[in-house]
Amino acid sequence: TLIVILIILYTIKAYNSKLEKLAHYDTLTSLPNRRTFNENFENMLLLFTRNKNNKTMVFFDIDDFKKINDSFGHQIGDKVLIRIAQLLKKMVRKSDYISRWGGEEFSILLNDINIEDTKAFVIKLKNSLESDELLRHYTKENVTASFGITSFKENDTLDLILSRVDAALYEAKNNGKNQFFVK
Ligand code: GH3
Ligand code: MG
Ligand code: MG
Repeated sequence: TLIVILIILYTIKAYNSKLEKLAHYDTLTSLPNRRTFNENFENMLLLFTRNKNNKTMVFFDIDDFKKINDSFGHQIGDKVLIRIAQLLKKMVRKSDYISRWGGEEFSILLNDINIEDTKAFVIKLKNSLESDELLRHYTKENVTASFGITSFKENDTLDLILSRVDAALYEAKNNGKNQFFVK
């Protein structure tokens, strides 16, 4: 009986951790999902309120991604997303939080960094997407993205930060894509 109980407990535990993973990570790219982003964001905001260390948020959206799907199929579109997630993971520090926000949109929370250094980071990320051989192999041309950037400000909320970063991204798209904008 004891062995049976142990097996059942083990199965439940394994199943629980699988559910936990499904709830917090995106299955395609293995990046944290939006739900995890929200939890991380709350922590960042609490820290910011307490010690006022600079924090910024970057939101980016792949340019003309629909065209990639339409020209090469969804499978290739998926591979592009997986590759972008890999490049993104490699570029951030351990103290930063990344997520697949949804579709072809990604968010990054950067810790202890000012706007100037965030811009430098975004330029590096932008270049790494554009110059990646594997991405070019998939799509036969450069994959580009547009970026919105904002910094945490006194009395900020999730809604306020999201609306600024969203407006910044909109400007970047509106100005011709493949660029960043700061709000
Ligand atoms: P823009 O430069 O303005 O951002 O144009 P866009 O084509 O990138 O944006 P749009 O919103 O028109 O299209 C996004 C596409 O992303 C549509 C949707 O089918 C595709 N997409 C969303 N999630 C996935 C996914 O998981 N895999 C694949 N292959 N495609 C996805
Ligand atoms: Mg989009
Ligand atoms: Mg897009």
